[in-house]
Amino acid sequence: MACLFCRIINRELPAGIVYEDDEVLAFEDTAPQAPTHLLVIPKRHIATLNDLEAGDQALMGRLPLVAARLAKERDLAEDGYRVVMNCNDDGGQTVYHIHMHLMGGRRFTWPAG
Ligand code: 5GP
Ligand code: ZN
Repeated sequence: MACLFCRIINRELPAGIVYEDDEVLAFEDTAPQAPTHLLVIPKRHIATLNDLEAGDQALMGRLPLVAARLAKERDLAEDGYRVVMNCNDDGGQTVYHIHMHLMGGRRFTWPAG
């Protein structure tokens, strides 16, 4: 399996895993852009937001629930945090297994760069 994140799911690559259930995995980003920078992914390989189908609704709905739970656990909820999903080149996507960034612990600017 060539996909980097599928290899993390299959434990073929090490990662700082912080949450796992039957359908979702969350782990530390190796190039953190904030004091907390986690990636929340579905265990099923989906390349980009463009590849989502109607049947993926429940699975994808779990990502923000897990992100919010992790943010609360890390005491980020009240101050706030940022969740981001990048799609394709112009969106800044570099790993083609859909993922939600959870970043917190500093103040973010808007609009995104
Ligand atoms: P994207 O740019 O696709 O939205 O986000 C991909 C993220 O994956 C980046 O923030 C990058 O630092 C992270 N990343 C890339 N390779 C690895 C890796 O091997 N392990 C982990 N944990 N994160 C990675
Ligand atoms: Zn994958």
